[in-house]
Amino acid sequence: MKAFLLTILTLALCCQTAFAQKTNADWRAGVAKAVITPDQPVWMAGYGSRTKPSEGTSQELYAKALALQDNRGKRVVIVTTDILGIPREMGDAIASGVAQKYKLTRANLVLTSTHTHTGPVPHRNLEGAYFLDEQQAAAVKRNTARMTEKIIAVVGEALRELQPATLSFGRGAAHFGINRRVNRDGRFVFGSNKDGVKDDDVPLLQVRSADGRLRAVLLSYACHNTTLTDTFYQFNGDYAGYVQAEIEQAHPGAVAMFMMGAGADINPEPRGKLEMAQAHGKALAETVARILAGSLRPLRGNLNTAYANVALPLDVMTREQLQAQTQDKDKYRRAHAQRWLARLDRDGKVMTEYPYPLQVVQLGNDLTLVAMSGEVVVDYVLRLKQELGAERLWVAAYCNDVMAYIPSVRILKEGGYEADFSMIYYDLPGKWNPAVEEIIIRNIHALARKAGRK
Ligand SMILES: [Zn+2]
Repeated sequence: MKAFLLTILTLALCCQTAFAQKTNADWRAGVAKAVITPDQPVWMAGYGSRTKPSEGTSQELYAKALALQDNRGKRVVIVTTDILGIPREMGDAIASGVAQKYKLTRANLVLTSTHTHTGPVPHRNLEGAYFLDEQQAAAVKRNTARMTEKIIAVVGEALRELQPATLSFGRGAAHFGINRRVNRDGRFVFGSNKDGVKDDDVPLLQVRSADGRLRAVLLSYACHNTTLTDTFYQFNGDYAGYVQAEIEQAHPGAVAMFMMGAGADINPEPRGKLEMAQAHGKALAETVARILAGSLRPLRGNLNTAYANVALPLDVMTREQLQAQTQDKDKYRRAHAQRWLARLDRDGKVMTEYPYPLQVVQLGNDLTLVAMSGEVVVDYVLRLKQELGAERLWVAAYCNDVMAYIPSVRILKEGGYEADFSMIYYDLPGKWNPAVEEIIIRNIHALARKAGRK
């Protein structure tokens, strides 16, 4: 009898859920995934100190695409990839393939990367960080072209899969990310700053089919995907790879996708061992399970997007400064100075600003996704939450083009890796001008208005 009553109760609950979802099925969604693990050894991205190419795979790397369409037929495709970053040239190649094949414009394509440091080097990303010989450079180029084709194909597959769906938004928290900037006698160095700023939020988009089946989960966390360090030579998605695997295992048939948040100055702790990456992935998957079991806010209304390249000023090094840097004892700094002196000689000038992509995706009336490019420090998400309201906001970083760190005015003043040295590895001719923070924030507000955020 008890079992019978329980069945009735369960049926009633199911009907109620199905009804609630039916009234909300004013979206269409399609999802697809493809393995992008290289088919040969390739130099690995993110640590300049590696001494040899990859040696096998301990976890497959994926490109995944989520296509969303509102009831007017307006579309956006969000792509996640288990790689360090999608640099300009690769992003442009993907965007032009997608425009040609599926008539999807740049504003309606969000390209993101999980920033795993155990993936292949993307061609023309972090160009000053690796000293590749001809054969290795060719392998990187070939693999980047291969990934580009696979990403274009996975976008098409997601678009072909569009079916009635409900979207809802939830939020949880994770705590293994710790601020990595430590003030040691006035100099900012890498370490563990337990009192430093961070963002524990785990925003989540749930996609269900009209009959209630879980089809996709998209989540973010603002913390470097660097549990695995430079001694690890197998391809692996790191904690972001493990959280996706955990969710997909718990929900057969569903696709889990991870977008990196603005956590460029945050590191996972502890780090260094494979089981730590697995544990962080598990912790994040538990957060996701709690969010999915709670009450999520249905997303209703129209989809709108806005995209712009914003000119960010650089404080370019002078010829004299570059010449002095050719005598540096650090080989990366010497090579950087030589490259920029050669460009200066060739062209008579160097770039003084960078066309920085910014994108806003307005998902109905209740969610604004801000897709920022580059390795964005946590100050930006904290500031945007204050100015735009935390409730309906999702800030993703490492989107569309990963050309540099994006430090705040505070970090530019303090100095350290994110402000200074990283520009050597990213092969830019100087530091960002402190005006960049205001320019970025002002443009995000403008794009959010353009995308119809109320
Ligand atoms: Zn990074």
